[in-house]
Amino acid sequence: MTEKKLKGQVALVTGGSSGIGRAIAIALGKAGAAVIVNYASSAASAEEVAAEIRAGGSDAIAIKADVSREEEVFSMFGEIIQQYGTLDILVNNAGLQQDAPFDEMTLEQWQKVIDVNLTGQFLCAREAIREFLRRGLQPERSRACGKIICMSSVHELIPWAGHVNYAASKGAIKMLMQSLAQEYGPRQIRVNSICPGAIRTPINKAAWETPQAYQQLMTLIPYNRIGEPQDVGNLAVFLASDDSDYITGASIFIDGGMAVYESFADGG
Ligand code: NAD
Repeated sequence: MTEKKLKGQVALVTGGSSGIGRAIAIALGKAGAAVIVNYASSAASAEEVAAEIRAGGSDAIAIKADVSREEEVFSMFGEIIQQYGTLDILVNNAGLQQDAPFDEMTLEQWQKVIDVNLTGQFLCAREAIREFLRRGLQPERSRACGKIICMSSVHELIPWAGHVNYAASKGAIKMLMQSLAQEYGPRQIRVNSICPGAIRTPINKAAWETPQAYQQLMTLIPYNRIGEPQDVGNLAVFLASDDSDYITGASIFIDGGMAVYESFADGG
């Protein structure tokens, strides 16, 4: 049985109804946290995730909110505080892609990705930090006053032609995360990023769904397998727990080695 390292703590996972967010929500629940599964549109999938967490013995609810809309983020946090009293862990996971060659990219495609991937993380992190500061450090809950996990990507490091809006949003998350870690470290708030490589989820189905696409993908991954959402769930539990209490301001790559550039393996 998994040790209940997060027992008594409350966690919000944005975009928690599918893919990586779903796996993180379930993993945090298994570790004993009460989990709020945020979703943008798919109520049925979010309710299914919450039911799975409750079946495992932890509390869970689903809350609808578009993380890029300030008033919806306010009302989601209001509901969380009203129902659970406080929040300990924020996983800023919601994100999307709107791909186009740069010279054909519309302002709408640029803006949508920045609104969700960057502004969404700003709005949720700001409300979480306000709540952490209001509650203050309670050592019986955790050694930290609060923990924020930002979902970044290998593309905060590796440039990505055809996906300039997405790569720019993740590059910006790196500085958002590090600046928050610097500003709120003295208040015992830890802020870190997870930087996945290729994880098997709906967002990148084209890269793994056929054997040819999968083979092609493997030329980028020294460890020669795609990542599974559960791999990221395990890392999120570590970063949310006191086991990682001395880690803040870090980008943790979880990518089977993608960021060590396999194309240079034969000398470049
Ligand atoms: P996914 O499409 O399954 O998950 C994204 C989730 O975000 C969805 O549930 C979606 O409904 C939600 N979402 C989108 N817009 C939202 C909004 N405005 N408000 C609230 N929720 C919203 O894909 P995923 O792969 O699980 O992606 C999760 C995160 O991981 C994203 O930030 C993505 O950039 C990042 N990531 C994924 C990979 C990968 O290989 N799958 C790699 C690197 C980074």
